[in-house]
Order: sequence, then structure tokens, then C-alpha cells
Amino acid sequence: MKRRVKYRWLSPDGYIHLGMSDGRIVAEHRHVWECAYGAIPDGHQIHHRDGNRANNRLENLVPLLPGHHKREHVQHWTGPGGEWWKRCTKCGRAAPEDDFPTKRYVDGVRKTRGNCHECERARLRAKKGLPAEGNSHRNFGRFIGPRDSVSGA
Ligand SMILES: [Zn+2]
Ligand SMILES: [Zn+2]
Repeated sequence: MKRRVKYRWLSPDGYIHLGMSDGRIVAEHRHVWECAYGAIPDGHQIHHRDGNRANNRLENLVPLLPGHHKREHVQHWTGPGGEWWKRCTKCGRAAPEDDFPTKRYVDGVRKTRGNCHECERARLRAKKGLPAEGNSHRNFGRFIGPRDSVSGA
């Protein structure tokens, strides 16, 4: 027995819901994705690429793990030159999106990380077990003048 869609409505939360012939109610974006690809992978959420929860065209939908999904929803706004700006999820500094490190390319479109270059560098250093930048070891090996000039007279 194949389920049919009986009702379709826009919910106050911006999602379109479907009333199915078997009496169940499903979110349209989940239904559209599952009709095309089968069951949604465990623990994944369906994300709307363009941010419009009612745009349930297949190419607008992508399954993401909750952690990655949250990143896609980092606040964006338009800067003075019409460019996209966003805020670093780590330090809160705002910058044009082009200034954020590259995360990956999707269909030739550059996707950026949620954290800025500095935070990304700090993250990678911490991962490698290196001390944070800007600490007391900074001047090691740097010529700071003849010995006499330091001790003074
Ligand atoms: Zn989403
Ligand atoms: Zn940052």
C-alpha cells in the first residue's frame, strides 16, 4: 500500500507539513528527500540550503549531522558593499564571509568555516599540542641588541 499526500499546509514555524493517507503527519522536506534517496541517515537533519524552510525542492535539501547543521545557521547579514558578513562562532568577531577560511567546495561554491582565521589557527595549534600564539616564547631567537645595551650602564 502506497501512502498518498492528502493535505499540505504551511505551519507557523515556516515548515510545510503533509497529512498522509495513512493518517500520519510528516514534514514535507523530510518526505521529499526520502522519496528521492530513501531513509534519512541516522541522526541527520534535513537542512534547507537557501534558508527558506518552505523551499522543499530536492536540490535545496541536504542531510546534515546536528553539529554541522548548527554551523550552517550561523548568522549572516549584508555588508555595505552587498557582500555577506558573518560572525565568528568562537570569538564573535564579524567579518566578510570571504575572509573566513575555506571549509569545502560544493558544486564550485566555496563554503566557509564558522570560525575566523585566528580561531582556526588556534584550533589547529591546539590539535597539534602546540602552545597558543602570542605567548612569552615569541621573542626567542630574535636579535634584541648587544648584551651591553640590555644590562645598561
Ligand atoms: Zn537548516
Ligand atoms: Zn574567531
